Amino acid sequence: MASLADGFENCVVERPLAPLVTARVGGAARYFFAPECADELRGVLESCRREGIPWFILGGGSNVLPPDGVLEGAVIATHRLQGFAWSGDRVRAEAGVPLAKLLRGAVSRGLAGLEVATGIPGTIGGAVFGNAGTRLGAIGDVLARVRVLDPEGRDRWLDRDSVAPRYRATSLAGHVILEAELQLTCGDSEALKRRVDEYLEYRRVTQPAGAGMLGCFFKNPEGASGASAAGALIDRAGLKGEPCGGAVVSNRHANFLVKRGDARASDFHRLARHVQRVVEERFGVRLATEVHLWGATSEGDSQLAATPDFMRDTARS
Ligand SMILES: Cc1cc2nc3c(=O)[nH]c(=O)nc-3n(C[C@H](O)[C@H](O)[C@H](O)COP(=O)(O)OP(=O)(O)OC[C@H]3O[C@@H](n4cnc5c(N)ncnc54)[C@H](O)[C@@H]3O)c2cc1C
Repeated sequence: MASLADGFENCVVERPLAPLVTARVGGAARYFFAPECADELRGVLESCRREGIPWFILGGGSNVLPPDGVLEGAVIATHRLQGFAWSGDRVRAEAGVPLAKLLRGAVSRGLAGLEVATGIPGTIGGAVFGNAGTRLGAIGDVLARVRVLDPEGRDRWLDRDSVAPRYRATSLAGHVILEAELQLTCGDSEALKRRVDEYLEYRRVTQPAGAGMLGCFFKNPEGASGASAAGALIDRAGLKGEPCGGAVVSNRHANFLVKRGDARASDFHRLARHVQRVVEERFGVRLATEVHLWGATSEGDSQLAATPDFMRDTARS
């Protein structure tokens, strides 16, 4: 592999990734960049494409699982892209702005819509990419348009319809999100604050918290609710508390896999494959991962990440 480090003074070689992802596992990125502006990011991407080096965009790291060992490629982090501006009932934010910061800003201005993101960690870029959401709705509900570098490296604005937000997915694979513009509506600041607090309390009671975890590991099967949701299937299969090395199925919410002690990324992979196999044997449903598995190379890993046909292009939020 050609060396990117020669062309960029800001390139870090073999940067450990565990401190940058909420699961707190995984090895190092062969090359690591944290560009300060869109132009710098575009330059890194162009070099990766020219040299045939795989690249990975890192937002808040709350929905990715890097592999153990060295991830061959360039990880490009967005945490320095922090600009944002409010204008009437719209906000325009660069990819690295934390979602929680935008939610606080919206509530204090009495702007409604972003409550759909209550309690979701990470950045606006990561949220738009995966159409993150809660039972209150999804970020795609308030997305007006998004500025991307498309797979050909062109800097373009895409409207919401082109992004096609659906259940934990969009059509943005291969794109890099630089900025997003959200369209909110007028509301009452106090009422919004109450709604956010109530939902945070609901999450506090129903979901695990703390370091060393990701969000829901598996997507819900199509049309699933209640007893057929991914977490309920895992629970009904008797897998709460199931350990694998240093990873364990949460006792509080079975769709959360959490780190216990000295976990490796491969512990999460093995545990997830076990959960997938048991649920399929028991209920005939193959769960697909919501978490992005970087550098997944084994046959089992690609099956983990594969979306069953029935879930493709399903419009839900
Ligand atoms: C405790 C906890 C609770 C959670 N609860 C929820 C929840 O309720 N609902 C929910 O939907 N999710 C939830 N999640 C998962 C996660 O927070 C969301 O998916 C979040 O939107 C990911 O954002 P991020 O910035 O951390 O993205 P990352 O984890 O850094 O990246 C996720 C994916 O998006 C891509 N990406 C990130 N930024 C960009 C960009 N600028 N351009 C292109 N691609 C990009 C990455 O390459 C990767 O494929 C939870 C996670 C945790 C740890």
